[in-house]
Amino acid sequence: MRRLIAAALIIGGASAAQGQAPVLPRVHVLATGGTISNLGNDARRTGDELIAAIPALGKIARVTVEQFSNVASGSVTQDMWRDLAKRIAALQAGPDAPAGYVITHGTDTMEETAYFLGLTVGGCSPVLVTGAMRQANAVGADGPANLLNAVRVAVAPAARGRGTMVLMNDEIFAARDVTKSNTSRMNAFSAPDAGVLGLADPDTVVFHRAAPEGGSTCRRAPFDLATLGAFPRVDVIYAHIGADSVAVEAAVAAGARGLVVAGVGRGGSTPSQGRALRRARDQGVVVATSNRTGSGRVGSGGVSDSLEKLPAGAGANVGSAELNPQKARILLMLALAAKYRPADIARLFEVR
Ligand code: GLU
Repeated sequence: MRRLIAAALIIGGASAAQGQAPVLPRVHVLATGGTISNLGNDARRTGDELIAAIPALGKIARVTVEQFSNVASGSVTQDMWRDLAKRIAALQAGPDAPAGYVITHGTDTMEETAYFLGLTVGGCSPVLVTGAMRQANAVGADGPANLLNAVRVAVAPAARGRGTMVLMNDEIFAARDVTKSNTSRMNAFSAPDAGVLGLADPDTVVFHRAAPEGGSTCRRAPFDLATLGAFPRVDVIYAHIGADSVAVEAAVAAGARGLVVAGVGRGGSTPSQGRALRRARDQGVVVATSNRTGSGRVGSGGVSDSLEKLPAGAGANVGSAELNPQKARILLMLALAAKYRPADIARLFEVR
């Protein structure tokens, strides 16, 4: 699956080699698959083919391409996340280190991969995750524009120090903030609580918020994969009227060390589900309460006033801040792998 073909295509190097133009910054593309590469009938474009179809890139960057995988994003695995993050770290430390990275990825789980990379990749060089809502051979395919814009952002000085971002439909989102909030539309990506981070406009790349430390400091990743153990099982439990204890008990029986509740409102669940969650917590499972509304915070200090209340901030019961369930799951999994204590996990959820 991983790095099926390690190919390198260099666009934009020729004029530099002739000494007629400054050497362009290098951007390394890691192609993983998704609709941006999908031609239907099991046929897919390679990363090389995607880049070769955009001659305008030759004026922006020296683009090198690596075929990491070529799969729908539902087939991306947690092992692939680790390999992707480690590959970027290796490139950062290697010769001719890229100025930035672009990951092409299916859009369905793009926010998860982006958030994982945001938590595990440090350094100055930005990582842009992009894809397409329309298939590679569709009329009005958005993949080429997204890829071009992702490379533009990857080399933009204002992007340095900002870590991992998602570029879709001309909009730049911080990895923590972004979610896919529509199944099919071109503007399927949004950041319900924090808003769009910036824009890849035709004339320039603009950011609406300052980079941390004004971009002068490179990021330290919150988690160091080099020292992190195996990822524990963390499951998402969906709350709804009629939900009983079955899903919670099954997850615990399967070995879950963490549970994320996609709670109603500010994190509520049904009485039966709430009792099962308390039992899980009493067995040492960390319960992080998120919500199913699509936006808004759940704090560790006061969880839900609807249906069943879980004891606020007690023991191993933490709020997920504004992280949606699928993102809260990633943070909880990494925090448990890093052996954080519940009180520290609660604080971790609030670090932006
Ligand atoms: N939208 C799908 C995804 O997120 C694309 C499916 C495919 O590439 O086959 O990966």
